[in-house]
Amino acid sequence: MNKIELEKIKQQALEEKIPIIMDDTLEVVIQILNEKKPNRILEIGTAVGYSAICFSEYLSPNGLIDTIERDEQRVIDAKENIKKAEVEEKINIYEGDAVEILPTLENNYDVVFIDAAKGKYPFFLNEALRMLNKGGIIIADNVLYKGYVMSDYNKHKQRTAVRNLREYIANITENPNLETKILEVGDGLAISKKLN
Ligand code: SAH
Ligand code: MG
Repeated sequence: MNKIELEKIKQQALEEKIPIIMDDTLEVVIQILNEKKPNRILEIGTAVGYSAICFSEYLSPNGLIDTIERDEQRVIDAKENIKKAEVEEKINIYEGDAVEILPTLENNYDVVFIDAAKGKYPFFLNEALRMLNKGGIIIADNVLYKGYVMSDYNKHKQRTAVRNLREYIANITENPNLETKILEVGDGLAISKKLN
């Protein structure tokens, strides 16, 4: 992968205020991928392809990333960026709402990265669990949502998002089949491993 090209993609995304994965969060995810060498990754929330391009370097040989994005312009930009990074053969974009697309997927994944509409995280979790291999890992970004999730703050206009993120955290921590940690990197990162 071309590092200069990747840096350009990152800078352009930041200029356009696209909420790409934060550096400290990326570092943690890369550590996990490096250890796991996944064959198949599912990403919910492609944006302009930055995280998928970063992750693609850590796939096993012939590994594949499926990623879902509903914003038409972002899909166009993501395709262009993925081409520039020369990782087209490793990343497959599904264009549309993940709420509609996920139930149609029947693949198995080693890693699922949830990074889209916060109000849909509990739904995304169920779909991720349905397709996750044993020993697989679900990584969810933004689970602490600027600290709202762990405070008693609930008068915010993002109340639904906060409620659903709390539900997500309750679900992953109470599921006996998952081993979960929540890290305060970036905007909060939940890492849940499906036990054998
Ligand atoms: N993973 C990206 C950033 C994703 S930002 C990176 O780190 O580079 C979140 C993206 O999810 C946005 O582009 C938004 O359009 C998309 N999104 C939000 N809800 C969605 C949904 N229900 N289905 C598909 N895409 C969604
Ligand atoms: Mg995010």
